[in-house]
Amino acid sequence: MKRDFSLLAGRHFDLLVCGGGIYGAWTAYDAALRGLSVAIVEQGDWAGATSSASSKLIHGGLRYLETYDFKLVRKAILERQLLLKLAPHRVWPLRFGVPIYKDSRIGTLQLKAGLMLYDFLARLSGKNMAGPDIAHRHFDRAAFARRFPALASDGLKGGFTYGDAQTDDARLVLELIAGAMGAGAVCVNYCQLTGLMESGGQVCGATVHDQLNNKSAQVLARQIVYTAGQWTTASQPGRDWCRLSKGVHLVMPGTMTEAALLLTAQSDGRVFFMIPWYGMTLIGTTDNDYKGDIEHVVVEKEDVAYLLAEANHYLKTAWTEADIVGSYAGVRVMKRSDHASPSAVSRDWELQTAGNGVHYSIGGKITSARGDAASIVNTVCAQLGVDAPCATQSRRFPWAPETNYDQWSVAVNARANRLGIAPESTKWLIRRHGKRVEEVLRSIEGELRLAECIVATLPFIYADLLFCARTEMVIHLEDLLRRRMPLLILAQLSEGTLRRIAETVAAAMGWDEAAINREVATCRSGPCPR
Ligand SMILES: Cc1cc2nc3c(=O)[nH]c(=O)nc-3n(C[C@H](O)[C@H](O)[C@H](O)COP(=O)(O)OP(=O)(O)OC[C@H]3O[C@@H](n4cnc5c(N)ncnc54)[C@H](O)[C@@H]3O)c2cc1C
Repeated sequence: MKRDFSLLAGRHFDLLVCGGGIYGAWTAYDAALRGLSVAIVEQGDWAGATSSASSKLIHGGLRYLETYDFKLVRKAILERQLLLKLAPHRVWPLRFGVPIYKDSRIGTLQLKAGLMLYDFLARLSGKNMAGPDIAHRHFDRAAFARRFPALASDGLKGGFTYGDAQTDDARLVLELIAGAMGAGAVCVNYCQLTGLMESGGQVCGATVHDQLNNKSAQVLARQIVYTAGQWTTASQPGRDWCRLSKGVHLVMPGTMTEAALLLTAQSDGRVFFMIPWYGMTLIGTTDNDYKGDIEHVVVEKEDVAYLLAEANHYLKTAWTEADIVGSYAGVRVMKRSDHASPSAVSRDWELQTAGNGVHYSIGGKITSARGDAASIVNTVCAQLGVDAPCATQSRRFPWAPETNYDQWSVAVNARANRLGIAPESTKWLIRRHGKRVEEVLRSIEGELRLAECIVATLPFIYADLLFCARTEMVIHLEDLLRRRMPLLILAQLSEGTLRRIAETVAAAMGWDEAAINREVATCRSGPCPR
């Protein structure tokens, strides 16, 4: 994946996409697969905003059944099942536990009814879709406590488990960008769309600014789609269409390694999760109306206090602030609504088209972004007079292995084992790189020390780090350590460790001593703003 700003000028694109989060990535990939000439620009790094700050779930959204949002749940479950099939390396099954206590807001019968409906909607999504065991199960008090030993057992009556799925959100975006490039799209990160060009009141192109070399260019495009997330509100008419809410996650030590928990907050009755990810535990999320600076979305003291208190209510051994390993914040964009609480606003998505013909993607979810992007590209094709069907609902992901996934995984595991890679590292290598893991393993054959873990508590190995630096359009150390390999939120890295990592990739990145110092200083200047 090579960045080349010069490819943007002097061509007349069918479609220019502004914003490289999940919606932009799916839109560019889908449009390129349909044969359109496509460009996508991202002002920062791929998935630099909300699309790397999610709960990482590919889920139907059990909680939306409470608000009777059956259409949304059905759509999301359908997409979940599709992604599990098309991208077994990128989207993997995750079981959730839901404990029931004496004072639980939702009792056994109501929960059972909801889970039966959830399973039913999954079955409706297609009999011939292979998938993991997703059906819910009930456990009595003792059995549930055994499954989730970290949970407080006072007042526990029992609980259910049910199936959903999980991903690495930033890598999902990256893989789609790689797919779009493979299908001919011009994809440039660190490139901001700074103005629109119009002819006869209709948009015909845009000015884009190369953030790395401080150059601008004019890009001609017949259609323009904004998938700009919270930046949609930076100007009219976007402000009128959106409501913003902030969501924070804390990263805690790994207490649950295989299954997640869906819990109800005591203070406000909201649903929140405790989720295993790369061996650590994510707690999230908050959901508060956001009117702050869209450029700097930060974790605040109140967010931390809320999440710790709510999690501790359920834990045998309480966590303190000293246990927090990392944190991150993101902004949800939702359709405008008058609901008092942002949690009550529908997570559904819509496309708005302004008077000058620019299309704006509003709201949505990582889970359903593929289907929503297909609608975007249908609209674009209709405007262009192109008759080309969507291909993404049946096409395996760009990095999905071509052979039987289970057999392929067994073979990769055996090979990795011979190279001295720990099984936990191999599991994540496969999920992170899909079939490209073979290239990572090849690099270790010539240099066995690359199989070592970078940080003892996490599964990431040096060969992976170098592979990302060499092949994944990394510009800054923060791109590498927050989105390609999320060490910055999953561990507290000392200056020495950051320097060691920067020196390891310096040759691949073309960094001299001054650049290493700069990159390390940026990573140390505090938690990533988003
Ligand atoms: C806390 C939280 C948890 C969530 N959890 C889940 C979950 O578990 N599962 C799920 O399915 N969904 C989840 N969501 C929802 C999901 O994360 C979002 O719907 C999705 O990431 C939005 O993607 P996007 O592409 O619209 O926006 P973004 O990811 O924000 O991307 C917009 C991009 O546009 C770029 N941009 C803006 N202006 C310009 C410009 N002028 N030029 C160039 N680039 C520009 C920005 O830099 C940004 O990268 C969650 C959301 C939040 C906030």
